[in-house]
Amino acid sequence: MSRNDRNGHRRRILRQRVKALGLPCAICGRPIDYSLPPLHPWSYELDEIVPVSLGGSELDPNNVQPAHRICNERKGNRIGFTCEAGGRPQRKTPKPNASQDWTA
Ligand SMILES: [Zn+2]
Repeated sequence: MSRNDRNGHRRRILRQRVKALGLPCAICGRPIDYSLPPLHPWSYELDEIVPVSLGGSELDPNNVQPAHRICNERKGNRIGFTCEAGGRPQRKTPKPNASQDWTA
C-alpha cells in the first residue's frame, strides 16, 4: 500500500502507451527489444526529456520518450543527451608515435 500510487498508475499507463508505439531508443537511436525483462540493461524504460529534478513532468506525454535502461542511466540528468549510434563512447588517446631514427 503506497500513497504514491496516484501517480504510479498514470505513469504505468503512459509507459504502456509509449511501449505500444514500438519506437527505437530516443537516446541512441537503436531499436529496443520490448520483450526484455525490466532489469536488463537494454530493456525499455520511459525517459523524461526534461528530467523531473529540473522541473519536467513525468506524466506529460510530450515529455517522455522510450529509451534503453542503460542509455537512460548514462544520460542521467542531462537534457538532449545522445549516445553515438555505434555504441559506447570511445576515448582513445592516440599514442605519440615514438618514432626514433636509428639511422646510424
Ligand atoms: Zn539506447
